[in-house]
Amino acid sequence: MTAGLLLRRAWKQSVARLLAILLAAGLLGLLLDRVWMLLALAAFGILAWHYWRLHRVLAQLYRRQRLRELDGRGLWDDLEMLLHRRQNEGRARVRRLLGLVRGYRRAAALMPDAVLLVERRSGRIEWCNRQARALLGLGPQGREGTVAEVFADATAQAWLAEGQTEEPLLDQPSPRDANVRLSLRLLPYSPDLWLLVVRDVTKLLRLEQLRRDFVANVSHELRTPLTVVHGYLDIMDVEEYPELGPMLTEMRQQSQRMSQLVEDLLTLSRLEAQEALAHRETVAMAPLLATLRREAQALSAGRHRIEVVDAAGVDLLGSTRELHSAFSNLVSNAARYTPIDGSIEVRFERGADGGAVLAVQDSGYGIPAQHLPRLTERFYRVSTSRTRESGGTGLGLSIVKHVLNLHDARLDVRSEVGRGSTFACVFGPDAVVERLQGSDEV
Ligand code: ADP
Repeated sequence: MTAGLLLRRAWKQSVARLLAILLAAGLLGLLLDRVWMLLALAAFGILAWHYWRLHRVLAQLYRRQRLRELDGRGLWDDLEMLLHRRQNEGRARVRRLLGLVRGYRRAAALMPDAVLLVERRSGRIEWCNRQARALLGLGPQGREGTVAEVFADATAQAWLAEGQTEEPLLDQPSPRDANVRLSLRLLPYSPDLWLLVVRDVTKLLRLEQLRRDFVANVSHELRTPLTVVHGYLDIMDVEEYPELGPMLTEMRQQSQRMSQLVEDLLTLSRLEAQEALAHRETVAMAPLLATLRREAQALSAGRHRIEVVDAAGVDLLGSTRELHSAFSNLVSNAARYTPIDGSIEVRFERGADGGAVLAVQDSGYGIPAQHLPRLTERFYRVSTSRTRESGGTGLGLSIVKHVLNLHDARLDVRSEVGRGSTFACVFGPDAVVERLQGSDEV
């Protein structure tokens, strides 16, 4: 039955009952010759009954009692029936929500990582799982305190206050044991709460360190034997052993390549070991650009048109050695991946935000778009045949990325197959200093 029909039926039943009572009272009044008195008594009785029903419903609601289940005869029965149904629905919803919350908490409790619910404004820990207690040495349930008390380190406190959800905070000491290293990640749980996920990354960091040390040690150990081989190959005169000519040339090329690989691996290890630049000096850009021009000319050996433009008129702050290594990697790539008669332009100019940009543009082979995001990975190469014969090590752009990271700068790559590429090193305003003397064209 629809709601309208039910309502109409309830009204009809109530009005019929009212009329029947009044009629009965009227008839009895006629018999007793007291019509008005009996009608008034009946009306009073009806009013009293209504008040009694209203009182009963209100009392039950005030006492938060469950209303009775009625089959609905008249307005009051219908009202109680509807309230009873609402109560049941409300209880079922609360039960369902409670079940859901318990389910979430059970899932969070089972997670191998430490999970904490943190109030955004006060930093108070609302809830945490067992792993969080073990990893962070938190007190008994309900007495967790604030996150600022747990992570006393200034970096962690600044990171938490900032509400940084994009980047996790890596390598934090555990408040329980400084040898245990943690990674922290904040997730926006609700408008009032953060979900803080803490993971023990001690083993991972140790493995990473082992890998770095291994690469650095192997490269270092290879350096001496390679220098010896290289030396002997250099003093062997091709004219003395004409039959060994092609073999010697090939051996020289390969040993040179291995030396370059070892040097690049050592450079990468050195860069990885630094978290930030120990010292920032003024990098004089005019002589650096002049060096880049000479290097480009030497690498190109007259095969390309080379232009170096210094339009910025400022210098950079950072490490001359590292920046030179990054820029010359880009110049070397431009020379190696641009066919004869192509053009290479090195342009140093101001950025829109007050920073500076060093861009190396070539009219070379270009790079298909799907390779661009992976270019700075170690040993990542676009097309093995062309790149291998180009003599590169596959580590150049990785070195560039590391150097730029150390300078809080980024590498922007734009490329179109068959038309060329632009590799731009973008520096922020903090990396720029006024140049005392400068010229636009180097
Ligand atoms: P490699 O030593 O092989 O040049 P890099 O790390 O310097 O290694 O570069 C990675 C790959 O990116 C290269 O193998 C090449 O395929 C591609 N690449 C880099 N620079 C250019 C460029 N200017 N034009 C076309 N492809 C390039």
